[in-house]
Amino acid sequence: MGNGTPARPRPELPVLLGKAEIHQRVAELAARLAEEHPAGEPLVVLAVMKGALVFLADLIRRLPMPLEIELVTARSYRGRTRREEIELLDDLGALGLGGRHVLLVDCVLDSGRTLAAVRRAVAEHGPASLKSCVLLRKDVPRVAGAEAEYVGFDVPDLFVVGYGLDHANRWRHLPYVAALPPQGDEEGSH
Ligand code: 5GP
Ligand code: MG
Repeated sequence: MGNGTPARPRPELPVLLGKAEIHQRVAELAARLAEEHPAGEPLVVLAVMKGALVFLADLIRRLPMPLEIELVTARSYRGRTRREEIELLDDLGALGLGGRHVLLVDCVLDSGRTLAAVRRAVAEHGPASLKSCVLLRKDVPRVAGAEAEYVGFDVPDLFVVGYGLDHANRWRHLPYVAALPPQGDEEGSH
């Protein structure tokens, strides 16, 4: 070693789901979606930002039906009763979802509050059909109304990053899903 501090390699996070495994599963999900979708009918894919963006990009490129993409951003906050509530930052009324086949896409189904809130909001606009597709479903209790018809992987209750998922807006670009070690173990953050 010469003078100074050698450049430290980027820390490796423990891989939970590898790139090849994810791509294989996304292809299977897309095949099932195509098979179960009414022939010739257009699909509106409504993705929950920002976590679903990588999953969305991979999934839609494997879907054969005519489709439109819409995005919705959900924010969680402590409500008056200190319960966690979900606020949608976009007006779904402007999307013309009435009579359309709508597929919600989200990255992870955890407590289910996000998906339940988006499903409720979409349902108000009278879609012809409404289904949900999530990449990950955690092994935790869930609120009512948060069912997903299409699930990529059932995973344990770990905090995960990568493939669109972040921690403080970091790690989204990892091509795999990794478990984030408990605070302090992760080096090199800035
Ligand atoms: P839920 O509303 O189902 O409790 O949580 C869903 C949202 O919480 C996801 O859309 C995502 O933004 C966030 N989330 C839940 N679990 C994780 C996780 O393990 N990693 C990351 N990065 N986000 C998570
Ligand atoms: Mg987040």
